[in-house]
Amino acid sequence: MDLETSLKAVQQRIEAACARSGREPGSVTLVAVTKGQPPEVVCAAAELGLSLFGENKVQEAKAKIPQCPGRLRWHMVGHLQSNKCRDAVGLFEMVQSVDSLPLAEELNRRAEQAAKTIPVLLEVNAVGEASKFGCRPDQLLADLGSINALPRLEIQGLMTVPPWTLDPEKVRPVFRQMRELKERCEQLLGAPLPHLSMGMTGDFEVAIEEGATMVRIGTALFGARSKAGG
Ligand SMILES: *Cc1c(COP(=O)(O)O)cnc(C)c1O
Repeated sequence: MDLETSLKAVQQRIEAACARSGREPGSVTLVAVTKGQPPEVVCAAAELGLSLFGENKVQEAKAKIPQCPGRLRWHMVGHLQSNKCRDAVGLFEMVQSVDSLPLAEELNRRAEQAAKTIPVLLEVNAVGEASKFGCRPDQLLADLGSINALPRLEIQGLMTVPPWTLDPEKVRPVFRQMRELKERCEQLLGAPLPHLSMGMTGDFEVAIEEGATMVRIGTALFGARSKAGG
């Protein structure tokens, strides 16, 4: 399938999932995940009107972004190492993968040095999988106040990568739990959080039905990645 056809299909599936759950199609933002894809693919996607892209490695993004049209917006969606925070502040409009208080503190320090404020999502490991990054829900609730007090970070919501499954219905409860966790965070902060980033190629329709405002899609748009691409 060519990119234009895949993109139309993904957009139609997003619209259908919105319609099923009584949501406005404009309430869901598509983040095109281009990890493992060369700059030419990003350019082709940009020509079709996509403007928001996700990468999961700072190193790869640092090489790729300068080769892509300048008006594009980039989100960091993969695990961020402390020693990459400085680069991340320069490259990304948002970091979706803040998964600990120490990382938040380092990102805040680097944002301060760059005289920037960085919108962030807090990554949650909802099920407690050992192989996944993200903080556990109880840890998140414990650290939320401290992260919120960091002046250079602006918490915009939560992000999760649920367990991999062939049957997206199996992860519906995880998405629901995330929506409830976001509501608890909003109560603690006394302010609304606009974003819930959840849903990938295998499960984005269920995620939308459960309240996702951002879906991060790679494979359904660009096809399978080589293993080396992560
Ligand atoms: C790779 C990746 C995606 C996209 O996954 P697909 O299944 O290819 O759509 C989304 N989010 C994160 C954090 C990823 O690493």
